[in-house]
Amino acid sequence: MFNAIVVEKNEDGKTSASVQQISEDQLPPAEVTVAVEYSTVNYKDGLCIGPGGGLVRQYPHVPGIDFAGTVEASDDERYKPGDKVVLTGWRVGEVHWGGYAQKARVKADWLVPLPDGLDTRQAMAVGTAGFTAMLAVMALEDHGIKDGPVLVTGAAGGVGSVATAILSNLGHEVAAVTGRPETSDYLKDLGATQIVAREEINETTKRPLEAETWGGCVDAVGGDMLARVLGQMQYGASVAAVGLAGGAGLPATVIPFLLRGVNLLGIDSVMQPYENRLRAWERIAKDLPMNKLEAMIQPAVLADLPELGRGILKGQVKGRVVVDVNA
Ligand code: NDP
Repeated sequence: MFNAIVVEKNEDGKTSASVQQISEDQLPPAEVTVAVEYSTVNYKDGLCIGPGGGLVRQYPHVPGIDFAGTVEASDDERYKPGDKVVLTGWRVGEVHWGGYAQKARVKADWLVPLPDGLDTRQAMAVGTAGFTAMLAVMALEDHGIKDGPVLVTGAAGGVGSVATAILSNLGHEVAAVTGRPETSDYLKDLGATQIVAREEINETTKRPLEAETWGGCVDAVGGDMLARVLGQMQYGASVAAVGLAGGAGLPATVIPFLLRGVNLLGIDSVMQPYENRLRAWERIAKDLPMNKLEAMIQPAVLADLPELGRGILKGQVKGRVVVDVNA
């Protein structure tokens, strides 16, 4: 028996999450059993710890959309006991039981060997949010980052913190947008050269085009924020759209695309093929300074997760929560 966060649907239709003991034979069938060491808290985890938000199909459910650990048993020749592995995506923690447990059983195709230079704790300090931040930076690079500041929205959150640290380490000026002024010193320590108040973007003129300002953008917020930012991009610059923490709507016009050649790049971390995942993890090990990653970490244990899940949905989590599932 081992510990896991189990989300159950009660008779009144509401869900509740608690630490419970479960057994290995309850795990879903798949090729590789992993002794999980660390997991983390992403926005989607907040949804899955709660009522599911349309992501969870069946209860009882073990959430946790990412984890890192050591292979315990494997029916697939690519992995053997003792191998260190990391998992993000593939709807693990949503439709398949995930990483909020001391053991997980998953398909070999969904795993990536831990890259040199990262341990399992660091890999989860990065987690899905940081992996996605790297994918966003790579997408901007593929389309060319212009001179001048690169904007990061939702900067004090998980995606934003990692994007800020990576872009700054790559030598870009980073303008970090936050609704929490108290995080300014934290963001400057991650490498932000400019702190932009959330209202400064949200309360601009709402004209379809404004001054050409940003050389690129990683946007974790969507909604009004993304609509405003599109009109502030330099000619031919790109926005990597990652998330919808500020809303799923997009009250924008086509003008920035037509008159400024702005590129809107959609980033999906969930269904990334193996080669892309490997390439992104290798770039993370190379381009994300580990001292900055340490500064983002908030340690947690399984029992903290119900509260942290509610917190991340309210935009209250700073940086990256790293869950030691064995503590
Ligand atoms: P976090 O909650 O850690 O960060 C989101 C940040 O957005 C908050 O910290 C806050 O930053 C800002 N924010 C929150 N609410 C609002 C609002 N109403 N208006 C403006 N800004 C707001 O989440 P993550 O960084 O983990 O994820 C960010 C988004 O990216 C989520 O929507 C998530 O689902 C998505 N995502 C998408 C992935 C993909 O594959 N495309 C993968 C991972 C995440 P601040 O306090 O600094 O203003």
